[in-house]
Amino acid sequence: MDFTLNDEQRQIYEYGGQLAQKFDNDYWLRHARRHEFPHEMFRQIADDGFLGIMVPEEYGGAGLGMTEMALFMEGTANHGIPLLMMVVGPTMSLAHIASHGSEFHKKELLPAACRGDIQFCFAITEPGAGSNTMKATTLAKRRGNRFSLSGEKTFITGAEVADYCLVVARTKPHTEVSRKTDGFTLFAVDLKKKGSTSSG
Ligand SMILES: Cc1cc2nc3c(=O)[nH]c(=O)nc-3n(C[C@H](O)[C@H](O)[C@H](O)COP(=O)(O)OP(=O)(O)OC[C@H]3O[C@@H](n4cnc5c(N)ncnc54)[C@H](O)[C@@H]3O)c2cc1C
Repeated sequence: MDFTLNDEQRQIYEYGGQLAQKFDNDYWLRHARRHEFPHEMFRQIADDGFLGIMVPEEYGGAGLGMTEMALFMEGTANHGIPLLMMVVGPTMSLAHIASHGSEFHKKELLPAACRGDIQFCFAITEPGAGSNTMKATTLAKRRGNRFSLSGEKTFITGAEVADYCLVVARTKPHTEVSRKTDGFTLFAVDLKKKGSTSSG
């Protein structure tokens, strides 16, 4: 296998160096101490076109893959920039919507997320289902053409700043499925809408 980076991949890997010149350790320390989200830095990453690394070009992204996303994160981490929000948003949420979402979701959510106008978090962990996600009990019940979700999620990175959450839920309880991986669906939940609640 050839692991030589092409020019584009090298530029992505080296981007962290440019970002760190503008957003240095003092910037991070200031935000960490005040428990503040680094909004200006995320705006910069969005403006530079990196939030949509894994989103197809027709939905506002760069149409690249996991290798480029990993290079982006390794490159920023090399300069001490910890971007967990890039893992849960652009990687775990946008890439999944791009691969498996409905056309409505792709058109409605992906371009805005690539521009940085909306942010995603990803919720799989529950108080009783950490490593063993098969035991997740958050249940989605169909009511007409809608679903109502009930359950509890914990440790959700960025829930306090995100506009949407990609929630992993079961349409069938784990006690009723023949294969333990059956019955899972992901829901894009608008956290700002009435009826959805989140705390930290
Ligand atoms: C900083 C941070 C950010 C996070 N962000 C998110 C997020 O954005 N979204 C989200 O959904 N979740 C998030 N999580 C949750 C994370 O995914 C869970 O913490 C993880 O899945 C482990 O679950 P748990 O904490 O319940 O530990 P447990 O599953 O209870 O595990 C406890 C210990 O037991 C060990 N263990 C578990 N099962 C076995 C086994 N079968 N054999 C041997 N050892 C075992 C584990 O290695 C661990 O040491 C985050 C966690 C952290 C720390």
